[in-house]
Amino acid sequence: MYRPATTRETQFGAHSPYPFHSNPVKHDGGISISVFEPSPHGLMRPRLLYPLFEPVERLKGVGPRLAKLIAKAAGERVVDLLWHLPFSVIDRSKVAPIGDATDGNIVTMVVRIERHKPAARRGLPYRIEVTDASAAMTLVFFNARPDYLMREFPPGEERLVSGKAELRHGQVQMVHPDIVAKPDELHEVARLEPVYGLTAGLTAKVMRNAVQGALERLPEFPDWLPDGLAGREQWSSLTDALKQLHGIGDADIPRSINAPARRRVAYDELLADQLALALVRQRQRRQRGRPLPPAGALRQTAIKALPFPLTGAQTRALQEIDHDLGEGQRMLRLLQGDVGSGKTVVAYLTALRAIEAGYQAAIMAPTELLARQHLETIQPWADACGISIALMTGKVDRATSNANAAALADGSISLAIGTHALFQEKVAFGNLGLVIVDEQHRFGVGQRLALGAKGEQVDMLVMTATPIPRTLSMTAFGDMDVSILDEKPPGRQPVVTRALSSDRLPDVIERLKQAVANGERAYWVCPLVEDSDKSDMIAAEQRAETLRQALPGQVGLVHGRMDTAEKDQVVGDFAAGRLSILVATTVIEVGINVPEATIMVIEDANRFGLAQLHQLRGRVGRGDKSSSCVLLYQSKAGATARDRLRILRETDDGFKIAEEDLRIRGAGEVLGTRQAGLPAFRLADLDNHQDLLQMAHQDARLIIEQDPKLEGKRSDALRVLLYLFERDAAIRYLQSG
Ligand code: ADP
Ligand code: MG
Repeated sequence: MYRPATTRETQFGAHSPYPFHSNPVKHDGGISISVFEPSPHGLMRPRLLYPLFEPVERLKGVGPRLAKLIAKAAGERVVDLLWHLPFSVIDRSKVAPIGDATDGNIVTMVVRIERHKPAARRGLPYRIEVTDASAAMTLVFFNARPDYLMREFPPGEERLVSGKAELRHGQVQMVHPDIVAKPDELHEVARLEPVYGLTAGLTAKVMRNAVQGALERLPEFPDWLPDGLAGREQWSSLTDALKQLHGIGDADIPRSINAPARRRVAYDELLADQLALALVRQRQRRQRGRPLPPAGALRQTAIKALPFPLTGAQTRALQEIDHDLGEGQRMLRLLQGDVGSGKTVVAYLTALRAIEAGYQAAIMAPTELLARQHLETIQPWADACGISIALMTGKVDRATSNANAAALADGSISLAIGTHALFQEKVAFGNLGLVIVDEQHRFGVGQRLALGAKGEQVDMLVMTATPIPRTLSMTAFGDMDVSILDEKPPGRQPVVTRALSSDRLPDVIERLKQAVANGERAYWVCPLVEDSDKSDMIAAEQRAETLRQALPGQVGLVHGRMDTAEKDQVVGDFAAGRLSILVATTVIEVGINVPEATIMVIEDANRFGLAQLHQLRGRVGRGDKSSSCVLLYQSKAGATARDRLRILRETDDGFKIAEEDLRIRGAGEVLGTRQAGLPAFRLADLDNHQDLLQMAHQDARLIIEQDPKLEGKRSDALRVLLYLFERDAAIRYLQSG
């Protein structure tokens, strides 16, 4: 099937924190501002590209009103139209006599107008009878103006009509032909026609004309491909490939996502992206950091004070981190570890290394709850080493917050734990040397950079519990080194996982009663009904009510609309064993750590992504008791839902699950592109073009190795490529050296 390019919203959103996208310039009321020369990054865009970065309004036939509509459907600039690939094609190439028409097919025919039969009264259709040598047919129109129809279809003349033929009682008819033209235009009509994503008020024809106008502005680009690639892949030039994809010229519009033209444009986009990442990475590597002295007594004391020995994986990750910190370059490392793999202690020990060297460290969590939990985990460890901690979140009271800010500014507190409140304006660190970001996928890359800006040459450790398949981490984190915690702390028992139809709810509640009577504790995750806190909350409240009837006094509820104090109270009661059941919306998805909890029930599990389910399941099986996870799926969801959950029963390996998730849901979803502000592509499709991504990655690496300043033979072309795909921010990194 022909697949549309990824939707526009996920891409160059005006608020995209992705640093390599120059956001399209917004303009009101169709008044165009110069959106070209210089580019938003203050760099000079190559002259060759000026015509492509003009507002669509400069195109023939596009006035302010249409420009607005086009902007909504495709984008504001000419180049946006080029990237607005048709999401489907209509095949009008079949030219057939009326007698051969079959029901429901698109046909193009040359017919003679016989007679008009105006509607007998309002609400009835206007009919026009037409013939060819083979048979007769009726053209049917509703609410059409008779004078218009008479002009378009003069009796006695021939016309070309194209549209969907229908058979009614053995008679051929066509309701509102898509195209009416003179017979000599047959060559232009009888072909594959691109179908574009539109918006209310915008017709297919206007869009097609605008795209044509955009295509006419295409220059011949210099060649930025590596030698031999185009030949091997049978690729034409980018310009020709775009024309073909938009149905210009003699070749048919390719329908396959893997057609050469489609792969060609995808490759260019991926190459621009990977090259930009490679440039950033190169700069990061060149940047002089401050090598930290080796970890000393403090680290030793801290490790001794821990209630457990480190796992092999934790020790390895720490060594890799230590190596980075001892080097004269900034660290930019991603620590990937499945839920429960013990990332927190690695973060803590990393922070100590910086602190021991005289710097401050900050640990940033995505939510209030998680920040507080980190504090609770780390506090006793830190107390044992005499390290004080400042908690910085939105909910910390004013006085404490001010005191903490002051202590961070004068350097008297060396470890800060918090949410993004850590990086508000008023927080100035005396000497920040290390930033650790937990659950990276919840933060945009931009936030990550803002954070780095709080200190000179800060080292950065990013932690994620979402195992990201290698192929994807390359785009998402192409600029980072990666450490993996692939070993869980000892003594964990695998979580017994079962999938049950929601019809079995009463049984599940019955079993829960028994378990609670035996002193067990359970999470109960409620369905994500809609994309709204409110409806989630109602569902959760209802479920909590049902469970309270079965288990009076034992059930607590947390949801996104509660304030922190309330949430903390409930989670605290659950952690302390005063409550046995914690009913929750997915606020517990990441991080909550109650090792005594042994049961996880997830309702409407089929609504969650596999990786998310795996995360949730990771909340149990943290202690030494055996644990279980019950995945309830809606009975009407049936076999496919059950089938999809199968992988969770079969494996506890987050990476395997992530691969499966990727296969089922596609890359954008897995990366959480929208939330995270990660780059999405307009031409490349990561589900189908993974091999191209690999190639682009290699190519970019090679380019930087051979020509680190982009001065060589291919470099002018490559710069054009970076500008064309708006990855030009990376060029700055070349110039600032
Ligand atoms: P995550 O990687 O999901 O953030 P945590 O850091 O929250 O995992 O660790 C999960 C649990 O495992 C915590 O209770 C933590 O104290 C414990 N833990 C971490 N490392 C070890 C270890 N080496 N041995 C035993 N328990 C550990
Ligand atoms: Mg964690």
